[in-house]
Amino acid sequence: MILFLRNATQTRVDNCGKPVELNGWNHKLPFIGMVKTYEPIEATTKKITISRQGGDWYLSCSYEFQAITTPKTTDVIGVDLGVKTLATLSDGKVFESVKSYQSMTAKLSRLQYLNRHKEVGSANGRAAQLKIARLHRKVANIRKDALHKLTTDLAKNHNPPPSPPGRGARGVGSKVVVVDRFFPSSKTCSNCGHVQDMPLNLRTYDCPECGLSIDRDLNASIKSERCGRARPVNACGRSAADSSGRSRK
Ligand SMILES: [Zn+2]
Repeated sequence: MILFLRNATQTRVDNCGKPVELNGWNHKLPFIGMVKTYEPIEATTKKITISRQGGDWYLSCSYEFQAITTPKTTDVIGVDLGVKTLATLSDGKVFESVKSYQSMTAKLSRLQYLNRHKEVGSANGRAAQLKIARLHRKVANIRKDALHKLTTDLAKNHNPPPSPPGRGARGVGSKVVVVDRFFPSSKTCSNCGHVQDMPLNLRTYDCPECGLSIDRDLNASIKSERCGRARPVNACGRSAADSSGRSRK
């Protein structure tokens, strides 16, 4: 949500404890005055945060809403968050990772090169800095967009999306089961349970026990799905997830 402000240099707003009236598209903010938003603000808004990024203003608000449970296509789905792909689901669906930073590197380095002799604080320097900040914001937004699309798809259609427990999935009636980050889902055969070392360059899991040959990430996501089905809470050692310094490959 972008705010159009009369006075863009004002960054601190204090209403001395008085409530701010928010109403539809037009709002009267303390010191700043009347602002318009692209979307109407809900009447149940409890808290707003005004922030500024790359020269634009944002108004973020938290409000109460009634959760709507969506019909699920799959009961339980395993998700493996990967390096090569953003996420691999146990039903075979793959979310490609976005290379937003790599794709903008050339443009970013050109902007930084052009900015090299600008005087700090000068009008030209500030303008160049703003361009760089906007590009960084764009890179971050592309990444956020991909993550939101992934988690929304998971939360609406399946039960456990990979968002932190309690966040994101709550509004659509999903449940997240976080598998212990040290649980060797990549090393364990999803068919027979055989465990073997899997260096990161090995993209296919070849099981010597049962002869299964499967994509590494798919194997891990199927294993995670089994793990999620097997236990409602803690069977894969969630409590250990954040406590030790053990490494996992
Ligand atoms: Zn096997």
